[in-house]
Amino acid sequence: DLTKETFDNIKATDDRYEAFITLMEEQALGQAQNLDKNGIEEDQILAGIPFGIKDNMVTKDVQTTAASRILKDFKPVYSAAVLENLEQAGAIGVGKLNLDEFAMGSTTETSYYKQTKNAWDQTKIPGGSSGGSAVAVAAGQVPFALGSDTGGSIRQPAAFNGIVGLKPTYGRVSRWGLIAFASSLDQIGPLTRTVEDNALVLNAIAGYDARDQTSSKKTVPDFTAGLTGDVKGMKIAIPKEYFGKGVDPKVVEVVKAGIAQLEALGAKVEEVSLPHTKYGVAAYYILGSSEASSNLQRFDGIRYGFRAENVKTLEDLYVQTRTQGFGDEVKRRIMLGTYSLSAGSYDAYFKKAAQVRTLIANEFQNVFAQYDLIVAPTTPNIAYGFGENQDDPQVAYMNDALTIPVNLAGLPGMSINAGFVDGLPVGMQLIGNRFEEAKIYQAAYAFE
Ligand code: GLN
Repeated sequence: DLTKETFDNIKATDDRYEAFITLMEEQALGQAQNLDKNGIEEDQILAGIPFGIKDNMVTKDVQTTAASRILKDFKPVYSAAVLENLEQAGAIGVGKLNLDEFAMGSTTETSYYKQTKNAWDQTKIPGGSSGGSAVAVAAGQVPFALGSDTGGSIRQPAAFNGIVGLKPTYGRVSRWGLIAFASSLDQIGPLTRTVEDNALVLNAIAGYDARDQTSSKKTVPDFTAGLTGDVKGMKIAIPKEYFGKGVDPKVVEVVKAGIAQLEALGAKVEEVSLPHTKYGVAAYYILGSSEASSNLQRFDGIRYGFRAENVKTLEDLYVQTRTQGFGDEVKRRIMLGTYSLSAGSYDAYFKKAAQVRTLIANEFQNVFAQYDLIVAPTTPNIAYGFGENQDDPQVAYMNDALTIPVNLAGLPGMSINAGFVDGLPVGMQLIGNRFEEAKIYQAAYAFE
């Protein structure tokens, strides 16, 4: 009944939000019937709970597009590791959610298929790239959704829709079956309405997977264990660069009030400096685009999805398929990445960016030698209107300045709602040391 109701609700509301690209009605109802028939195992803590899937995670026999024309009608032959895990926990995947094409973007506007709207105000962007995932959760279509975060794509749309979004530590969650954007930065994580729900979902999807070579063997704690409401003595660092130029003063005000609330609960708060923050965006766009240019070579019209017609030669087939199949933003990244990796530019761009990445990672480690958590705004601004940041990609890229350093350093980061400005949600970002998601959950739960 719950599964059926979920589809009724999605069908009644999705004209308004346009969060879903594909519904999985047949699969979901089949799975629900099996649960009814066979009963629920004791460890199936998510039994019967419906969820949505960002459409860059492969689903067996269900169209998986990455919001690109080049994967139109592509039906994978297997499902992503995280989906195997969730199925084992009894959760029911109900559909594939919209995103920026290949997760490249911050507004979900680069999708080939549709324009998802912000859950709070349908004239505003939902954020991105996991825009569909955030809206489906915030609008009550599903209790949780999976997103992916390469430079902020879980945390930023979570912030813009007033929900909880976690990017786990790099290596915590298997990337097997996630369509790769930038493999050294990509990480899957949960978007939920509450901190506890988020911890429950991470419990189900975290852990070692031999099929992902960067998967960590670190033991996975029970992430709900620290949900006590107590943060007494916790040491919180406030990086001054995250509150400076380019960050909307109204956003700063709301986040500072949030920090004061943590302080009132007994946390010890001090200001620190992360001086290389300002180089994060530049390094990210070199490294991320370089990896993307390599990862996207496989889309050639032969193996997957869309294939151009009326071509004369094999090379013509590749060129036409990619010309017609990829959108502008994807092409921009492929060109930037190919250039950065080319023999004459490698030292000046790729290598330099990799060095900056190390500086940023080290700088975070210095802070975590003395502090439990870093707290800052998730984004410099609240959700804005459609088309507003489209003309100049460099301006749009700056919007990710506060989320990108976390990916470069492989750290876990969460966005949680801290309040509202002009009726739109403001995200507060909690950043932890590697594999210390538990501390993030502890503070977020106390704050909530
Ligand atoms: N907005 C960033 C980009 O366009 C981050 C995207 C992401 O995290 N997938 O690359």
